[in-house]
Amino acid sequence: MSASSRLRGNAGSSIQWNRTGVARLSGLAYVDGKMATTAITTAPGTYALVLAGRKTNTVRIGSLGTLELKPGVYIYIGSAFGPGGLAARIRHHTEIAVRPHWHSDYLRAACDLIEVWITTQGGRHEHSWARAVARLPGSQVPMPGFGSSDCNCQTHLFWFQHAPSIRTFRRFVQTMVNVRR
Ligand SMILES: [Zn+2]
Repeated sequence: MSASSRLRGNAGSSIQWNRTGVARLSGLAYVDGKMATTAITTAPGTYALVLAGRKTNTVRIGSLGTLELKPGVYIYIGSAFGPGGLAARIRHHTEIAVRPHWHSDYLRAACDLIEVWITTQGGRHEHSWARAVARLPGSQVPMPGFGSSDCNCQTHLFWFQHAPSIRTFRRFVQTMVNVRR
């Protein structure tokens, strides 16, 4: 599938919200180097980047250290509560940062962005989302401390040999909301 056909398939569509409040953005593609962000909400919220490691590689993650990149799927959990909300942040992640700042910027430069899971439901869910992704079958921690410098989570980055299903993730997220402290 070419980038342009993916974009045409996506550009006019609206976000498909599920009753769990977790939507999937797929077909993230570009025209003239710019992503069509019209379909992405500018509301604040929480997101998960689903990234594919292209090949075995060594990636420097800022001052955190070196990640041994493996083929497979990486899921990074973040939140967007600044200007432009989710649309601005996801646009940032679709591009390769010229001056990497966040841990995710370093990883992004070595991976393909496959899809993004988002929610705009009230409050910050990034830490409960990290716990939910940690519980998905096959979840591994490739680098403790990734994206979690400012919280108590072990990590906000997970690795899977095969892409986990958003259905399972949604179920775990709901369970965690229900048992939230
Ligand atoms: Zn956290």
